[in-house]
Amino acid sequence: MKFLDDAEPFRIKMVEPIKKTTRKERELLIQQADYNVFKIPAENVFIDMLTDSGTSAMSSKQWGGIMTGDESYAGSTSFFKLRDSVQDIMGFPYVQPTHQGRAADFIMSQIYASKGGYILGNLHFDSFKGHSEIAGSIPVDLIIEEGRTANSNPHPFKGNMDIDKLKGFIKDKGKEQIPLIIITVTSNGNGGQPVSMENIRTVATIAKENNIPLMIDAARFAENCYFIKQREKGYASKSIKEIAQELFSYADGCVMSSKKDGLVNIGGFICTRHEELFPMINQLAIINEGFVTYGGMSGRDLEALAIGLQEGIDEEYLKYRIEQVAYLGEELAKRGIPIILPTGGHGVYVDAQKFYPHIPQKEFPGQALVVELYKTAGVRGVELGSCAFSKKNPHTGEIIYPDLELVRLTVSRRVYTHRHMDVVIKALEDVYKRRDQMKGMKLTYEGPILSLRHFTAKFKPIT
Ligand SMILES: *Cc1c(COP(=O)(O)O)cnc(C)c1O
Repeated sequence: MKFLDDAEPFRIKMVEPIKKTTRKERELLIQQADYNVFKIPAENVFIDMLTDSGTSAMSSKQWGGIMTGDESYAGSTSFFKLRDSVQDIMGFPYVQPTHQGRAADFIMSQIYASKGGYILGNLHFDSFKGHSEIAGSIPVDLIIEEGRTANSNPHPFKGNMDIDKLKGFIKDKGKEQIPLIIITVTSNGNGGQPVSMENIRTVATIAKENNIPLMIDAARFAENCYFIKQREKGYASKSIKEIAQELFSYADGCVMSSKKDGLVNIGGFICTRHEELFPMINQLAIINEGFVTYGGMSGRDLEALAIGLQEGIDEEYLKYRIEQVAYLGEELAKRGIPIILPTGGHGVYVDAQKFYPHIPQKEFPGQALVVELYKTAGVRGVELGSCAFSKKNPHTGEIIYPDLELVRLTVSRRVYTHRHMDVVIKALEDVYKRRDQMKGMKLTYEGPILSLRHFTAKFKPIT
């Protein structure tokens, strides 16, 4: 094995050419896009690190499944293949497909959220947060302190829920006020940081004692299981499937965005253990998604997902996946570039405030870095800082800036090689060398909803 260790565990059967542009061309392109990378046509991006969602490369087996997918409205063979695949890994008897993860979130919120109730999580994902708020409940994040900070303390499971805070919250508000607990694996909100099995087991025990259901947001469950195998005592010799089976055994059900560890470009599902909940889940799917055996997905997509879930728990694949992200992080850190350590499962987060200490938050240091990285090498990252996460004081109208000023560089699954990562590393190194000359950005347009402004914002460089 030794000699094979560092190589990708696949060979490339189909290629998608990507365009190499010049700096001059990119300076014009970013200007035409109002210095917002969301508005750059993808064909002008050399390495796209905007998101890992729905951007995976499918395998030859999955493409074969696309051809054999059964497009029946009711009782599609591909549905049963998907159900079997989910049951095999996750163990839940009842499986409802949906068109995306957020549709599964919606169904979950309709089943569990109650008016005025608190829904506790490690770090809730935005789409569930929104749905639960609409249903009248209050999402509460109880992640451990180590998971909140940008400093690089070496905690191996920065996605863990704070057990003392969980117990305290239940005691304080009363279990009747808490309709649901959700654990998101890996924790997307702080960079794909994993949750330990011990933490999940403990949360499950507390949930049971208090009669509170526990759901898993499973978007990156396979990556989380790989971290458990690597980092948690007692799991080194277990297979990823065994670890996944144990993880899900503690929960009442799960929601899944298949666009991540499902290794497909679209899709989702919601599962439950409880026969009595399934009719309502089915009916919510029927009115919003489609009939129970397709849920807004085509037969071919169900088929590709059934295969993708199994490929996603393959250990050689996961080793390649997690090590590629770690490689990018380690090489950047070696060059003194401030990133969040340890790296999580799906990308590297650059600390733009440390990168550009001379640019104040009101001049968007993260956005300045995103723009300069695109100009330098056609690499598209995304700002998660004062543009994306600022809030407004409702009384004074004063802008409240977030604690962290981050730029996320997400790595798509099975898409780029290590040579591509080297481009990113060298480009960022070059940007870092020139950091003193960099100036901030001025926001010239924002849409009506502050929390969504980063998608359509316009900027101008400060000269
Ligand atoms: C992406 C994501 C979702 C939403 O899924 P979509 O498929 O994008 O609708 C929900 N939860 C987590 C943790 C996610 O990463």
